[in-house]
Amino acid sequence: VSRVDSPPFNKAAMDGFAERSPDVAELPATLALVGDSFAGGWPEFRVGPGQAARITTGSPVPEGADTVVMVEHTEELEGGRVRVLKLSGSNICPRGEDMRRGETVARAGEFLSPLGVGVAASAGHERLAVFRRPRVALLCTGTEVVEPGRPVARGQIYNSNGPMLSALLGPLAEEFRYLGVVGDEPGRLREAIRRGLQADLFVISGGVSVGQRDLVPPTLEELGVRRVFHRCAIKPGKPTYFGVRDGAAAFGMPGNPLSCFVVFQVLVRPAIRRLMGLRCAEPAFRDGVMDESFGNKPGRRNFLPCTVRAREGVCHLRRTRSHGSADITGARSADALLSLPADCSGVEKGETVRFLWSGPHFPPFSPGG
Ligand code: AMP
Ligand code: MG
Repeated sequence: VSRVDSPPFNKAAMDGFAERSPDVAELPATLALVGDSFAGGWPEFRVGPGQAARITTGSPVPEGADTVVMVEHTEELEGGRVRVLKLSGSNICPRGEDMRRGETVARAGEFLSPLGVGVAASAGHERLAVFRRPRVALLCTGTEVVEPGRPVARGQIYNSNGPMLSALLGPLAEEFRYLGVVGDEPGRLREAIRRGLQADLFVISGGVSVGQRDLVPPTLEELGVRRVFHRCAIKPGKPTYFGVRDGAAAFGMPGNPLSCFVVFQVLVRPAIRRLMGLRCAEPAFRDGVMDESFGNKPGRRNFLPCTVRAREGVCHLRRTRSHGSADITGARSADALLSLPADCSGVEKGETVRFLWSGPHFPPFSPGG
């Protein structure tokens, strides 16, 4: 709630001269200068008929004056006089025009944007009560997974999820802890999961499916996590697990890198926004037009990486190359995820589709636009 009117006084919007509008009804007009009003001061005089005051941007308009003429439209004359040649509006910001004392200028559940910070400050607030961002922990699982920088032996692969999810999660977190890689081995996994559950949000990659070595869901539950769901009707991302314990929430994501990326975009980021206290947390799907025809297997909501190009104000989508849910190399050039409903059996060229921005260049850096 604002503590002040803003602006707190009738304020000059230009450098120039303040006067009474009837005195400049006919131009040119010559007026007598009676004083100055500079920013930070207070004019103790009145501007009477036939008079004017020198004034600078941001200064209080002296009593009596109701218009400010730009210095560019005047000529100063000898003997403390000014000639007004031209008018261009009143050039006065009236007291309280931006906000009134007592007015609500920010609400709970809204994102406190840089402009919002400025608004709160101009309302006179030194401190605001806000939600903090969640503390986030990340664990990668898989006996085959090796950190980049080390040699990979036969049967092993580099850990792409760790660095990729760190890059996605880190900027959203109050505090981000990367817990490294653990193999699919109950004892070490249990210890790592115990540590991860100290965060507000714990994200785990791999080991959530139905394979022999997929130990993440049972281990989470041994440690007191209550399952909210396991398996989700999205593609990729079907094996996704979500559970809660006390103040903590845990996501288990399938280890395929593109699955991790999609689950982050459609589930994890919204969850983080909700934990940040934001009322508006759901992903914002947009309309676009598909530039190619293709078939789709119905069954689950399908998310496909696409490029988006703007043509005549319309977003046109094309799928990127894909070898399936491990192929982040093909997906790297994508700007968005196309979202196909579960019953979709294909898309015709020219059809309207829904998509979610997911690329590094969110609007307004509109791709191709
Ligand atoms: P999972 O969900 O554990 O069954 O793993 C599914 C696939 O993702 C397997 O091919 C794994 O090798 C692969 N994978 C698991 N974790 C990672 C990781 N951190 N980086 C890259 N690929 C991974
Ligand atoms: Mg695995």
